[in-house]
Amino acid sequence: MQPLDRRSFVRFAAALAGTAALTEAAPASWLRPTVRPRFRRDPFLMGVASGDPDATSVVLWTRLVPEPFAPDGGMGKDSVRVTWELGEDELVRKVVQSGTTLATPELGHSVHVEVQNLQPDRHYWFRFRAGDAESPIGRTRTLPAADTMPKAARFAVTSCQNWEQGLFTAYTQMRNDDPDLVFHLGDYIYEYEAGRNGKVRTHHGKEIESLDDYRMRHAQYRSDPLLQAMHAECPWFVTWDDHEVDNNYANDVSEQKNVGKAAFLRRRAAGYQAYYEAMPLRLRSKPDGADMLLYRRASYGQLAELFVLDTRQYRSDQPNDDKRGPLRGEALAAEQTLLGAAQRRWLERGLGASRARWNVLAQQVMMACAATAKDQAGEPLYSMDQWPGYFAERQAVLRHCQQQKVANPIVLTGDIHSNWCNELRLDDRRSEQPVVATEFVATSLSSGGDGNDGEKQRNELMANNACVKFHNRQRGYLLCTVDAAQWRTDYVVMDRVEAPGGTASVRASFVVADGEPRVQTA
Ligand code: FE
Ligand code: CA
Repeated sequence: MQPLDRRSFVRFAAALAGTAALTEAAPASWLRPTVRPRFRRDPFLMGVASGDPDATSVVLWTRLVPEPFAPDGGMGKDSVRVTWELGEDELVRKVVQSGTTLATPELGHSVHVEVQNLQPDRHYWFRFRAGDAESPIGRTRTLPAADTMPKAARFAVTSCQNWEQGLFTAYTQMRNDDPDLVFHLGDYIYEYEAGRNGKVRTHHGKEIESLDDYRMRHAQYRSDPLLQAMHAECPWFVTWDDHEVDNNYANDVSEQKNVGKAAFLRRRAAGYQAYYEAMPLRLRSKPDGADMLLYRRASYGQLAELFVLDTRQYRSDQPNDDKRGPLRGEALAAEQTLLGAAQRRWLERGLGASRARWNVLAQQVMMACAATAKDQAGEPLYSMDQWPGYFAERQAVLRHCQQQKVANPIVLTGDIHSNWCNELRLDDRRSEQPVVATEFVATSLSSGGDGNDGEKQRNELMANNACVKFHNRQRGYLLCTVDAAQWRTDYVVMDRVEAPGGTASVRASFVVADGEPRVQTA
């Protein structure tokens, strides 16, 4: 251990002053000496990642955690200098930018470097050093320049990766697919206690509630080598759903009725902070107490405008006590909101102004109103945690797309642990209405275990819901291949996730032609 003396600290702070990564007041821990530790264990156990790219910048991420199940990650109370290098070659020999930043205990010794002034639409490779340790090399990519029409893009869409219920084998195939970007649509971790629904491996500890708990859970998940390898392969746009904090929570309302709002917001603050620390997010997303700005947009040249939504933080409580219910009463109430007023205004303004060929809503819960059960009187019942419980807002967003002639709205969805392909209308029960948007729902990566291809259920759902064009309950992810004329979604499924060696195949493929929101079988 070699603490910096006062003079070198001042010099160091001066050297940092010009870097874009540090645009806010120095945290209190800067007043303590930083150290250049000798690590007894590799501090890069969580690997490296990159995210939130635009045409000229991207976030490079790591978090120093030599001991994943120690509350402080085994890092103690000192801040640590971390240097980074970004190069044009896969061994990072031709370094084009480099710098130094501080990993502080306040942020769990995470590092979020926003590298600026990059060339558009190209790969870069990066790595970190801390003390005597060196990270693995990660690859990242900038987006195409705003005024260009890229020839093509490939996006992977994943969600719901329960550690206990399945292996993350699907990421091996995703890596072979070589996407430009990955969207993670939530349930990146699950909050449950060890052994709650284990099939293949076990969570560490009890149900997570404190900041230490959430940090350790993220460290456990990110120790998965396949997940790590996929993060090291290309930039991700991540957004959360419920399990990053608590099953089916809504804004400040816990799933548990006996937990008050103040207590729940303390838990939410812990979950949000650990999420920020664990993800390649920009400084703008750094949490402020129990609030964290996660919705954002990016332009994939003129090909696609990407709107990444947050349907948990601002939503009103689920109608019908969050049990499946009919499309009546509270589910139709004008004040029911999933987005909250500010996000909705931002989204509608952004959609109205977009000139992109495809307008992508990367979000959490299913937008199609698909009845999944009937009550005793034969009335169809819908999930109240999803958009049907917020019917008026759903209709307003779709009507906005229609009236503003938003080009080719595509909704990408997670949460529901099954594959769906849906055509969205203002009211999905009225098949005579025109289709306004297309929804591709990604199944879980591992949640629920092996799953099945359930032909009977598929046929029933499709017979009862004109909007549903495909359904299946295997595990996997979506691969979207996009050009100016066509959007194609391949449903990649695994034959098993409850044992090693699962193999991937494409179960179904659908295309949407420019200007025609109805899906066709590819
Ligand atoms: Fe889930
Ligand atoms: Ca969920």
